Amino acid sequence: MIPFVDLKAQYRSIKDEVNTAIQGVIERCEFTLGSEVAAFEKEFAAYCQVEHGIGVNTGTSALHLALLAAGVGKGDEVITVPFTFVATVSAIDYTGATPVFVDIDPKTFTMDVNALEAAITEKTKAIIPVHLYGQTADMDPILEIARKHNLVVIEDACQAHGAEYKGRRAGSMGHMGCFSFYPGKNLGAYGEGGMVVTNNPEFTRTIRMLRDWGAEKKYQHVLKGYNFRLEGIQGAVLRVKLKYLEGWTEARRTAAARYDSLLAGTGVPTPYARPDVRHVYHLYAIRTQNRQAWQDALLAQGIQTGIHYPTPVHLLPAFADLGYQAGQFPHAERAANEVLSLPMFPELTAEQCERVAQAVQELAMPVPAMSEASPVGVA
Ligand SMILES: *Cc1c(COP(=O)(O)O)cnc(C)c1O
Repeated sequence: MIPFVDLKAQYRSIKDEVNTAIQGVIERCEFTLGSEVAAFEKEFAAYCQVEHGIGVNTGTSALHLALLAAGVGKGDEVITVPFTFVATVSAIDYTGATPVFVDIDPKTFTMDVNALEAAITEKTKAIIPVHLYGQTADMDPILEIARKHNLVVIEDACQAHGAEYKGRRAGSMGHMGCFSFYPGKNLGAYGEGGMVVTNNPEFTRTIRMLRDWGAEKKYQHVLKGYNFRLEGIQGAVLRVKLKYLEGWTEARRTAAARYDSLLAGTGVPTPYARPDVRHVYHLYAIRTQNRQAWQDALLAQGIQTGIHYPTPVHLLPAFADLGYQAGQFPHAERAANEVLSLPMFPELTAEQCERVAQAVQELAMPVPAMSEASPVGVA
């Protein structure tokens, strides 16, 4: 069996260190926020090349509070893409603002910057580009358009810890960057977690208050806030894991490069990585028009795959009230029908990559009965 992700393998590799860190939090009874969270905020902000980090309970809360700090609310519009995890759009909805979609670039799966300006109205307050699958959106044109129209840019970097665009880290380019530490993300907690990173001290102050009941000091509630605090145990686990993140990212990139070369020449569309981006391969999604058959055939060979995501948000029943129709975002809709995520995690071995690629290759180009050919692209 080749799992889609293997969290157990990673735990085994850091077991003693992580257990000691968790035990320390329990002994100090620093269950929520506390010294480990504070230290992790500093360390992760530095990792993102940003001044401030504010730990919160989920990536969704990070997006929600970033929008509130930017002053987004009822009557405002926020532009994002429909080809994302639903949380991006839910966070906009929580503020009372209206999500407005622009299609994706079919090559990168990120915001089509050429479609952005036409979606801006006098109600637009913010743009949320999504760094999908671990590749940053094309940030320079987005930032330029935002400057021109005086809009706030909030990066949804929930899948892009350590990704870079022209040498700049994901989360550091917009006014704020939002991360998730859901267990399956590139940097995952042992539970839920999230963070907003920013260089802006005002946003930092506001988000620190909003995550903890809007309090300036204990019982001095100056804003209508939330209980979105990050737990101490998660801070401690994430601090341990952050030390390994670069190594794990390089392992993902190595696995992706293996898949790329093994699948080259098979006609299977493999992920396009922009040359000016450091793609961190949260997911490795190929495209196929026979997705269900491929997924079933791979599973029959013990290979788990995933679909991220089968329905673009504008066609989800939950957001029917936005009034969008099928056909409005053809690139997002086509991607949703075709993408298939292959197993991807740092501990994936070369041999596992070869087995997966071999199986995919046979689906793409059924091997003639007599042939014992070695995988294409392998010397
Ligand atoms: C995971 C994810 C989120 C939400 O993060 P949670 O921690 O699960 O709340 C938001 N946006 C994207 C693109 C994600 O992948």
